[in-house]
Amino acid sequence: MPSKTPDFFDTGALVGVLTTQPLDRVLDYRAPEGGCWQGAYVEVPLGPRKVLGVVWGPGRGDFDASKIRAVNRVLDVAPMREEMRLFIEKSAAYTLTPLTAMLRLATRAPGLGDPPSMRKVYRLGDGEPPRMTDARMRVLDAAREMGGLSLTLKELAEAAGVTTSVVKGLVKSGAILEEDTPRDTAFARLDAGYGGKELTADQAAAAEVLRKGQRAGRYETVLLKGVTGSGKTEVYLEAVAEALRQGRQALVLLPEIALSAEFLTRVEARFGARPAEWHSGVTMTERRRVWRMVGEGKAQVVVGARSALFLPFQNLGVIVVDEEHDTSYKQEDGVLYNARDMAVLRASILGAQVVLASATPALESWANADAGKYKRLVLTSRFGPAVMPQMRALDMRGEDLPSGTWISPSLQAAVRVRMEKGEQALLFLNRRGYAPVTLCRACGEQIACDHCDARMVEHRFLKRLICHQCGESKPVPEVCPSCQVEGKLAAVGPGVERLAEEATAKFPDARIAVLSSDLFGTARELKAQIETIAAGGADIIIGTQLVAKGHNFPHLTLVGVIDADLGLQGSDLRAAERTFQLMRQVAGRAGRAEKPGQALLQTFQPEHPVIRAILAGDEEAFWKAEADERRLAGMPPYGRLAGIILSGGDVARVFDLGNYLARNDAALRRVDAVVWGPAPAPIARVRGRHRVRLLVKAPKGVALQGALADWAGQVKLTGDLRMAIDIDPQSF
Ligand code: ADP
Ligand code: ZN
Repeated sequence: MPSKTPDFFDTGALVGVLTTQPLDRVLDYRAPEGGCWQGAYVEVPLGPRKVLGVVWGPGRGDFDASKIRAVNRVLDVAPMREEMRLFIEKSAAYTLTPLTAMLRLATRAPGLGDPPSMRKVYRLGDGEPPRMTDARMRVLDAAREMGGLSLTLKELAEAAGVTTSVVKGLVKSGAILEEDTPRDTAFARLDAGYGGKELTADQAAAAEVLRKGQRAGRYETVLLKGVTGSGKTEVYLEAVAEALRQGRQALVLLPEIALSAEFLTRVEARFGARPAEWHSGVTMTERRRVWRMVGEGKAQVVVGARSALFLPFQNLGVIVVDEEHDTSYKQEDGVLYNARDMAVLRASILGAQVVLASATPALESWANADAGKYKRLVLTSRFGPAVMPQMRALDMRGEDLPSGTWISPSLQAAVRVRMEKGEQALLFLNRRGYAPVTLCRACGEQIACDHCDARMVEHRFLKRLICHQCGESKPVPEVCPSCQVEGKLAAVGPGVERLAEEATAKFPDARIAVLSSDLFGTARELKAQIETIAAGGADIIIGTQLVAKGHNFPHLTLVGVIDADLGLQGSDLRAAERTFQLMRQVAGRAGRAEKPGQALLQTFQPEHPVIRAILAGDEEAFWKAEADERRLAGMPPYGRLAGIILSGGDVARVFDLGNYLARNDAALRRVDAVVWGPAPAPIARVRGRHRVRLLVKAPKGVALQGALADWAGQVKLTGDLRMAIDIDPQSF
């Protein structure tokens, strides 16, 4: 990026400060004693409060000069770079998000704005408390578990399940030590020349293209496609290595925290030291350290979840987006952004490289490569002797299966064969909990959430009914809440917990492991379970889509998909794409090592085109057919979509607002966009609020955001009415 020197503002000069408070403008302040740089992180007074902000540029001067207050202090961190300010501005404009909300994503460093007194950390000391209580014992245990590491007061209290005063009470006796935040310890240096593998010809050629791009030091996006196990990770780590050689930083984004444990070890094996980690499972103290080190260029490689994209890198050379098609890259709460697209935006501003890696790329990426916007690299074969598993449909119409059970005789037989060979079988069902529906056999009532338009899902393991929409939970009732008849509530349909029950009955001698995100309290427990499975400590694995991603189970040779039709129901246009991706990913779990694998798909519609494409493994054909359909309909990626979700407590008022917008669409028509709806949103009620959706479809290449802003700006939101704009919605 052609970086211009930031401006310096002398003491008392007028500066514009962007705060993280929900105000939609940059506010004028006076530069503090000693002046400040553009981009400086500052604390400013706002009403009676002190808030965090960034010096965005010169002040506007359109404010009553006598009322302008001075910046309180400049924080002791590297100023925000021009590139980052541009990224915040452009991503805000793209997603139609207020700048302040975008800035909040970029200042998620805990403690950034805290006064020094709040920056204390706590760890185990040698002292003995005069009196030992249960609660105190738990604090000491929790501190001991951290080894020599420190936690903040809140973290330690939470880890021990006690109030902060219990922790404080242990400080006097020295049983717990209270210290100022330690100076950030440095990350060990990563060595580009350490631990590289000898690459196959295919891999080496792909790696060389990435290295060349990295050396050129310009923006480019490369789609790296290859079946699971083809060595994509080995290849993109070479791009990371080249960035390190060039003295630049690298960011590897992963879709799920669960992945990072195994992944970090792998990065360590390649570069001889552990990279920095950034995701919700990382302690606040560690996050503070990572944020600062990244900003000072001292953390060379960051492995993280989507929010790592907003870290203040000093000199970023490459962003890898692994499993780029994964829908969890889209943040669906608060700021609605897709980390994959924002990675491309950030890289284009800084002149960095993006590597999008996937076995089953999103249609968008596929189309961008076709159009020549992205480079495309394809790894065609699996590494070593591993081959793609043989895939076969099990036609459920021919299976003799009692109701309330889901493992067909054919699948059972196949599992037995694997067990006899000492190999593992995976039964895949993408449904958490015990049963998706709880039905009263007396009145037909299905138990639904009180706040949402969703059924409650029974989780027998937790002994509760849980709403997967809002998280509301309650005990499983004895009597039907509708007809008051007792003992007639029945579980209908399978979830992984129920499948585990069936497997236990059918394979009493098998060791069964269930992998579902909600069964593990901590990332550590999940990691332990994954390690047990990888080491061969289970015969049958039962899992949700958690297992579809990245984990390496060398003994796994059979994948049984319990309900291959599951994703094909519903009206979502992307259903086919998702089912195709998920089934290919799951099947890819089998036979990664020397043993060839097999995938069996239980289906009631083996002649369905998507099922047939999955079985044939003919991706080109599948994508082409899917692309043709979308092109005809003018749908993404051949047209643009935006969703507008209106919500409120009174359904009639929400619809009125929707109808008003639908009628007054002149601003949209100016860019040839059309609006559909209002219609109930895909999730029509959440937490007691009714949701109505309008969909806007526009041709590619028009200034959609501006038109949307004008159009949506016609209405004033009063009372509890809310509007959220979702550019490029995931479901349509
Ligand atoms: P992908 O990311 O495409 O799923 P990986 O990079 O994880 O594939 O490779 C699959 C497995 O094969 C890993 O265990 C990896 O270490 C191994 N592997 C891939 N390429 C090589 C190579 N050139 N030399 C040695 N092992 C390799
Ligand atoms: Zn709910």
